[in-house]
Amino acid sequence: MMELKTESCPICGKTSAYLQKNDSGFDEWMCQFCHHAFVWPQPTEKYLKDYYDKSVNYVKGAAQEKIEPPKRAHRILISMAGKPQGALKVLDVGAGFGSLLLYWKENGHCAFAYEYSNRCAEFLQKHGMKCFQGEFGAKLFEGDAPFDLVFMCEVLEHVPDPIGYLGTARAVLRKGGKICLSVPNKDFLLMKSYNASFANNPHLSHFSQQSLALALGKAGFENVKFALASSDTYQNTGLVKSAAITGANIFAKVLHAASCGKINTGFQLFACAENP
Ligand SMILES: [Zn+2]
Repeated sequence: MMELKTESCPICGKTSAYLQKNDSGFDEWMCQFCHHAFVWPQPTEKYLKDYYDKSVNYVKGAAQEKIEPPKRAHRILISMAGKPQGALKVLDVGAGFGSLLLYWKENGHCAFAYEYSNRCAEFLQKHGMKCFQGEFGAKLFEGDAPFDLVFMCEVLEHVPDPIGYLGTARAVLRKGGKICLSVPNKDFLLMKSYNASFANNPHLSHFSQQSLALALGKAGFENVKFALASSDTYQNTGLVKSAAITGANIFAKVLHAASCGKINTGFQLFACAENP
């Protein structure tokens, strides 16, 4: 009989994860308790750094030399953050080429960025946004913290210690400040995020709604609210692809309704939570 290997889950801590697959030489596990999927052991820091330095996925946009307007995903997160009372200090962690920050800057708020990529950081600074680089810890933001809002778009699935990362975000937020974030929805009916090959997209974690709620709670956040978007709200897709996505969405929504909401139909999972 094949030995059933288990591993402890980095989010709920229970030893209830079983080996899901081994893509590109990395073991990917699925927790039976909080439905979190994760890579373990994790690749070395050097492996990840080399990946992001070489990858075209994570430097695209630089050639355009312009900031694009906020995408649909950004607008969803902005609306989850609620109506601002006065001018806010906003930090976008993993700001990329500044689409989301541009909105805040143009509306009279103070926009701050954190970026891993040198190319993005240079680009943002050239466009008048202060960009932090280096190890993501509360010390880095001394002098400018606390912030009223922290955004984290498609970041958490890439970081080795998501709870620690969220903890830093909470440490730089004022009391009552909010974090607004998105991750790929692990349980999306039509495209399970954990089915993607690790070699093409190094996601160390794949969050279920349950595991994301647990991670936010362990990092000290409260009043967690979720939203789902049925299509990839970060992509501007071509006509044929967007028609296919629309068709798939209608199909998914019918299934969602027919199953009394039990079937998961969100491409992206959005969350907003408060620093109590
Ligand atoms: Zn778990």
